[in-house]
Amino acid sequence: MKLISTYTDSHRRLKDEWFLPSLQDHYDLSLFHCGVQGSGNYMEAGWSEAVAFKSQVLIDAIKANWGGVFVYADVDLEFFQPAEHILRESIEDGNKDIVCHLDDPSGNLSTGFFALRANERTLKLWEEVRKAITTERRDQHAFNRLVRRMDGLRAGYLPSRFFGAGTFHPIQRQAGARFLIPHSPIMFHANWTVGLDNKADLLQRAKRIVGHGPGAIAANNAICYLRHGVGEPHRARAAYRQGVRRPAEWSAPRRPRRVALDASTACQLKCPSCPTASGVVGKTLGTGFLKLEHFKAFLDAHAWISQIELSNWGEAFLNPELPHILAYAYRRHVALTIDNGANLNHARAEALDALVKYRLRRLSCSIDGASQETYAVYRVRGNFDRVIENIKTINRLKRAYRSPYPALQWQFVAFGHNQHEIGTARAMAKDLGMAFRCKLSWDDLYGPAFSPVTDRALIQRETGLGVADRREYEEQRGRSYIAAACHQVWLSPQINADGRLLGCSVNHWGDYGNVFADGLEACLTSEKLAYAKAMLMGEKEARPDVPCTSCSVYRSMLTRDAWVRPDEVAPRYVEGRRMNLLRNRLRNKLAIAACEKLYGMWRKLI
Ligand code: SF4
Repeated sequence: MKLISTYTDSHRRLKDEWFLPSLQDHYDLSLFHCGVQGSGNYMEAGWSEAVAFKSQVLIDAIKANWGGVFVYADVDLEFFQPAEHILRESIEDGNKDIVCHLDDPSGNLSTGFFALRANERTLKLWEEVRKAITTERRDQHAFNRLVRRMDGLRAGYLPSRFFGAGTFHPIQRQAGARFLIPHSPIMFHANWTVGLDNKADLLQRAKRIVGHGPGAIAANNAICYLRHGVGEPHRARAAYRQGVRRPAEWSAPRRPRRVALDASTACQLKCPSCPTASGVVGKTLGTGFLKLEHFKAFLDAHAWISQIELSNWGEAFLNPELPHILAYAYRRHVALTIDNGANLNHARAEALDALVKYRLRRLSCSIDGASQETYAVYRVRGNFDRVIENIKTINRLKRAYRSPYPALQWQFVAFGHNQHEIGTARAMAKDLGMAFRCKLSWDDLYGPAFSPVTDRALIQRETGLGVADRREYEEQRGRSYIAAACHQVWLSPQINADGRLLGCSVNHWGDYGNVFADGLEACLTSEKLAYAKAMLMGEKEARPDVPCTSCSVYRSMLTRDAWVRPDEVAPRYVEGRRMNLLRNRLRNKLAIAACEKLYGMWRKLI
């Protein structure tokens, strides 16, 4: 059998010390040297060029071996047993076109090791991947997306005895980290780590444990289960059972435990970039408040919902029924947050008291300045001192109720006019017991860019993103800065104050039915929403009645062919109402921390 591999100078050591010495079959070996220089680290200089080189080698190999089967292997892997007969069996089973090792429990295939049948389908697949690398700068995401949506392509997984560091637990690993090793392993791929030393360390660890026999593997795995739980390996086993899933299967509706329900679409400020202030949002979504009677009925009818985010288009504190909403959620053990942001300019004493008394979990305050002069440039009509006074009041109440809730965050949107006050704001946040987050401004998302930043190095540092604006972010990452908003459609659907299901916090163009009238499940199972999900995964064409068609995030995905991936919207654990009840009862920070620790340990064992 032919085995093809590519390597750069940075990976020569892995090839010579681990990959080649571990080969146990008599392959017809073809090694291709890529002359690109660089550290070889993921997404660093030269890495994308090396990935493009690899895809071109594969395209050439498919043409040269037409009708045959060959194996491709990265050099950061090692073998423990002969593999050739199992590779042949795997690709012949169902006459597959390609069989890869499972990359992670959500079902992604790894491009690091696979057997491939050279035919028109695999040629088309790798030509498309080669094309996608020019915009996405990596192969794995595009490869999985294309495999899932290419009609006629027969793709599958190699047995779990071919595994990588993330196959059973998808976490980035440092030197010394443990990972689950299957019984009688054949091949190990040292991925899910960055840096050659870390890769060598993973290869060394796997070799040592496997070399000590089944007892050592069992002991290693027992420690892994205790540390990381059995949830992810369970998902990996399910992925093996289900086989490679099509995008439509990821669109299937579920009962999300977390939703976002806007407490208000009205706001008292006139921020220049805000579509609420300009009246654009009001035209389609209306201007009003979430009503207590709707909130109560919603919580009663959807007993599986345990977490609700209350802020989006408007100012939650303007809702006159906010204290009663907080009280009712507390009684029904539903945890509330105001994470998206509140300006906190007008908050009645009753609302601030309810916030702490009924244990709102988190409150993010939008304060783009450290003085009235600077703050009011963007937060037009806002009063800086009043906001700070309201935060001090919340802190006083937290002490009085002896409660750690709400956790407070100072959200600072960086503009040209306020960048000089970031440092002062950060220090003030610390004094007020608040976390601090410096965010990129909206640029031209909702109209002409307002007060663009000028000290780019400062913003690159302060945001921790290495970029100074959304355009630079998109250029660098190949995705919109707010691409994660699309994940809300699956993980935390956004609902307007009047009950209209919007899907995400960006959409103000249309809806998917009214959850107050028809129930959340009926809206989540609508044909229109299923179509929108398929669009977001790049499976369907844009359709005029689907709101995403009007959205710049969708246009960015379309241009860059960078769609929502199944692993990004795979179900995550969200605490239920029983855990909320426990948190509501505990009255002291230490008790809550201890309870969280115990609960986390218990979660890992189940
Ligand atoms: S593309 Fe659709 S789901 Fe994504 S942010 Fe835009 S409107 Fe929301």
